[in-house]
Amino acid sequence: MNLQSKTTLLTAFLSLAMVVLITLGSLFFFRQFSLYTASEHVRSVAEVVRVSLTESMINNVIRDRQQFMRRLTDVPGLLMVRVVRGPAVDKQFGVGLAMEQAADEIERQVLATGQSDFRIAGESNSPVFRGTVAFVARLEGEPNCLSCHQVTDGTVLGAVTIELSLADMQNKALTTIAIMIGVMAVFGVIFTLLFRWQLSRMVRTARGVQKVVAHARGGDFSGRLEYHGADEIGQIASDLNSLMGHLQRDLGTINRDIARLLNYELQGNTNMITTTTEMVEVLLEVAQFKQAVEEDHSVQDVYMRIGRVLMDQFWIQHFSIYEATPSTNHMRPVLVDGENIAECRWCLDRVLVRADACRAQRTGHIVHSFQDAYICPCFAREQAGTGVGHLCIPIIHSGVVGNVVQIVVEQHHGHLYQVLLPFIQVFLRESASTVEAKRLLDTLRESSLRDPLTTLHNRRFLEEYVVTLDSTTKRGKTQLAVLVLDLDHFKEVNDTWGHEAGDNVLKAFAKILHSQVVRSSDLVIRFGGEEFLVILQGNDAAVGAAMAERIRAAVENLRIPTNGVVLRRTVSIGVACFPDDGDSINDVIKRADLALYQAKESGRNRVVVYQAEELKEIHSASFSSPEKKE
Ligand code: GH3
Ligand code: MG
Ligand code: MG
Repeated sequence: MNLQSKTTLLTAFLSLAMVVLITLGSLFFFRQFSLYTASEHVRSVAEVVRVSLTESMINNVIRDRQQFMRRLTDVPGLLMVRVVRGPAVDKQFGVGLAMEQAADEIERQVLATGQSDFRIAGESNSPVFRGTVAFVARLEGEPNCLSCHQVTDGTVLGAVTIELSLADMQNKALTTIAIMIGVMAVFGVIFTLLFRWQLSRMVRTARGVQKVVAHARGGDFSGRLEYHGADEIGQIASDLNSLMGHLQRDLGTINRDIARLLNYELQGNTNMITTTTEMVEVLLEVAQFKQAVEEDHSVQDVYMRIGRVLMDQFWIQHFSIYEATPSTNHMRPVLVDGENIAECRWCLDRVLVRADACRAQRTGHIVHSFQDAYICPCFAREQAGTGVGHLCIPIIHSGVVGNVVQIVVEQHHGHLYQVLLPFIQVFLRESASTVEAKRLLDTLRESSLRDPLTTLHNRRFLEEYVVTLDSTTKRGKTQLAVLVLDLDHFKEVNDTWGHEAGDNVLKAFAKILHSQVVRSSDLVIRFGGEEFLVILQGNDAAVGAAMAERIRAAVENLRIPTNGVVLRRTVSIGVACFPDDGDSINDVIKRADLALYQAKESGRNRVVVYQAEELKEIHSASFSSPEKKE
């Protein structure tokens, strides 16, 4: 039940209760007043009767008393007056008229006790007040009762019974009460209507407040109250309107600014509070994410962190992060479904060799399959299964696509991920500059550790790596074979066919080393000039010598076309082994170098394994001329 109905009901109930109470009170009051007035009236009449009888006795006309009594009944409202003689009077003057004998128990009681009796008799529609007043002989007063009556003071001489009609009085009282009820009812109705009218303004305002607050809770602060009175209700309305105005303006500004910051497209019917809260939460998470990313050690750590955001915050199970190198038109996966693997799982392998086969990489636009399932032919549709789609987001580094993040989800979840896309993009955007910087640093570092001509690791790499290699080899108590290789009479190539031809020979030699040394744990290093180093982890001198021989033979058989001629070269190789030939890798390299020196000394194009007591040639090959034209 609403406030207005409740208050109306309460007011009506109170008015009714007041009418009932006042009516009952009035009835009681009128009854008491009537009884009092009637009893006084009866006493007055009794006194008149007593005085009249006394006068009749004095004037000796007591015989005519009956006539007097009859005349008394002509008085309006006086129904009956009857005198009753007491035993003392009967005794002194003899028994009087028959009607003067006690007629009922009340009169007998009054005659016996001298106590007057008053009561209401008759029907309720014609009520009668009956009073029986005792006449008691008194010594005082003029004339003195005892001067005629031979009785003692206080003797009951008789009584008079008087009946008065109360009908008139009752009618008047009821009429008065009816008028009062009518007046009160009219007042009650007017009061209720006035109160209701006054209250309706409050109720209208309260309903308005309720509506405005309900809208505000739903993020809509455009609601206003219409009441403009100058009273307290008007003040409430004006305060609420101004509060709503502030919220609409300020929260709207914050909402729009944050949305702009997140590149989030606000929908007209969204809850402003919810979207603002969500966006602020995202901003906070993004700020923490950005700081964590900046402090990450390597770019791979950053990819892992992006992967965790996709999995934990956006519930994405399947995704790929690709690293793109537009200059070489290559792409490689760096994180797939949270795993640090380098295989395509959700794209065809063709994107690895032709990065521009990836639509997102080529266009720099977001590509998704939610409208057109076949938008990108490189999506591994069969691998993903039917009903699975993709959302590919390019990440721009200095104007070119540096990464592509591919999200693989159920096609029917497409709409959800399109809504989440701006939030995902914020994380990606915030990490982009760090990824770019770290990738650049990695490239710089990688290039500083590689020889640009042959792309092999350089001497600096060895210097950095030798400490790790030393300790892991010692800790693991494993063997390690070191090969030091030096091209024979290389200077002649430069001198005869030019420096460029020399470079080509070096590149061709590096290729041979690449093709022969295939284990990922083995290292090939350009040690300087035309000297190279091969480190075979977990192998002894015999394996090292076998490898050296394979290389030697491969170089011997190599034909290098350059500047219109075909060059042939040979190589000398020294082999030593850890821990047999030295306490450290550097020691072993020195021993292998000694073995190389021995190989050169003993005629070149050969492999020499370091022997502690004397350097012994374990293998030699026929010495061919350093270069031959073909
Ligand atoms: P040996 O059989 O005793 O090793 O004779 P060698 O001529 O190979 O040895 P030497 O140390 O006299 O000559 C090495 C030459 O390698 C000298 C240098 O000009 C050349 N060289 C070093 N680095 C490069 C390079 O990057 N490119 C070219 N083209 N030549 C290089
Ligand atoms: Mg040489
Ligand atoms: Mg040399």
